[in-house]
Amino acid sequence: MSRTASLEKGAGNGYACRMIDALDLACRLIACPSVTPADAEAQDVLAATLERVGFTVHRFTFGDAPNGPVENLFATIGSGSPHFAFAGHTDVVPAGRGWGTDPFHATVRDGWLIGRGAADMKGSIAAFAAAAQAAIARGFAGTLSLIITGDEEGPATFGTAPLLDWMVANGPTPGTNYVPDMCLVGEPTSAAVLGDTVKIGRRGSLNAWITVDGAQGHVAYPARADNPVTRLVAILARLKARTLDTGSDWFDASNLEVTDLTVGNPATNVIPAQASARLNIRFNDRHRGPDLETWLRGIVAEEAPSAVVKVRISGEAFLTEPGALSALVGDAIASVTGTQPALSTSGGTSDARFIRRLCPVVEFGLVGASMHKVDEAEFDDRAQANLRRGPRPRLLTVGRRRCRTGCGATPATPFRLVNRSGDPWIITTIPSFRPNLPASRRSRRRAPKRPSAT
Ligand SMILES: [Zn+2]
Repeated sequence: MSRTASLEKGAGNGYACRMIDALDLACRLIACPSVTPADAEAQDVLAATLERVGFTVHRFTFGDAPNGPVENLFATIGSGSPHFAFAGHTDVVPAGRGWGTDPFHATVRDGWLIGRGAADMKGSIAAFAAAAQAAIARGFAGTLSLIITGDEEGPATFGTAPLLDWMVANGPTPGTNYVPDMCLVGEPTSAAVLGDTVKIGRRGSLNAWITVDGAQGHVAYPARADNPVTRLVAILARLKARTLDTGSDWFDASNLEVTDLTVGNPATNVIPAQASARLNIRFNDRHRGPDLETWLRGIVAEEAPSAVVKVRISGEAFLTEPGALSALVGDAIASVTGTQPALSTSGGTSDARFIRRLCPVVEFGLVGASMHKVDEAEFDDRAQANLRRGPRPRLLTVGRRRCRTGCGATPATPFRLVNRSGDPWIITTIPSFRPNLPASRRSRRRAPKRPSAT
C-alpha cells in the first residue's frame, strides 16, 4: 500500500499533489543497478518523481568512457531566497558476493530496508526529495534544490564539479545563478545512532606513486650495481619520520601511510633494477595539497634524483566553521531525536569538497555502518528500541512547531519516513530556518578538539 495524502496548501504556493512516498522511491532507486558510472535509469526514476510533484528538473550527461558518460541532475522547487540545496549521488559501489537478498531488489524486513544504496545513499535521496516537497507544501518561502550526480563512487570528474559549474553560470532568469546559500550532503554520516553525527569538514587526500630506477647486479657485488630499494626505503623513512602536525581545532593530526611497496624480485642473489611505492596522505586544514606535493618531491629528488613521481590530490581539507548551518541542522535533528549531533571531520572524502567552493556545506545522513558492505541496510534506531519493547512500534508523528520568536511562521520540520505498515522508518531532516530549541539543548554540542601534545 502506498501512502497518499493531499498536500496542505502552503502560503501562496500552488503545489497540491500526491506526496512523494520516500520508502517507495528508495525501493525504486535501489531497483536500478547503478554501479558507478552506470545510471541504469536511476535518474529517470528520480526525475519523473520530482517532475510529477512540481520540481523543475535539468538533466546533464558529462564525460566519455571509461569513466563516463555520467548522468547528473539538478532539480529545483520554489523560488527566491533562501536557497537551500541537498546533494547526493545515485551511483553505488558493486554489490560484491554473499548477499542474503538480491542487492538490486529492495527488501523490507523487520523494519530494515535492505539493498545496495539503502544507506549510501539512495535512502537519503528519497528522504530529502520527500522532505523538500513537504517543506514547500507547508509554506517554505524560498528555493529548495537537489544536486544529484552519478559519479561520486568513481573518480568524480564527470559529476558534481561540472554540475556546480553549470549552476554558477545559469539561473532561473537571465543574469542570475543557481548558487545555493547553504547545502546539506546526504552522505551516511551517522555513526551508531541516526542523528548522532554531522560532518562539518573533511580532510584532504593526496596519493603519490614513486618509482625508483637503479642498476641491476649480483648481490655479492654491490659496488657494480645501484640498489633502488635502498633509495626508496630512505625516501619513505624520511617522509614517514616527519610529524606533519598535531591536529587543529576540528581535525585530527595529518597522517601519511605507505599503501604499496613493489619490487617483484624473485631472485635472492640479484639486486633489482626498479622499486616502487605508493602512499596516501590524509591532511587537515593546516596543509594544502600542493605544499605537501612540493615537500614530497623535494625529498625524493634528494634521495633519488631520477625517480619518477606521480601525485594526485583528490581533495583539499575544508571546514565549514560551526555556525548558522551546523546549528540549523543540529537543531532540526535534535527536534526529532532529542539529542544534538556531534560535529565531526572524520572519514573519507565526499562531494562536499566541491560544493564548499559555492556555499557553506555540512553532511548529514543515515547510519553508515553497512555502507559498501553486503546486505547494506538502513533502520530507524528508535524503531529498533521500540521493537525490543513490544511487537509493533507505534507511529510517532512529527508535529509542526510554531516559531518561538512569535513571528507566527511554521518552520519546516524534520521529516520522518514511515514504512508500509506505518512503522517508524528512516529520518532525514529538512532544516528549519529558524532554530527553535532552548539554548540548553544547543549547548550539548561537542567541544572543539584541541591539539594534543603528542
Ligand atoms: Zn556516498
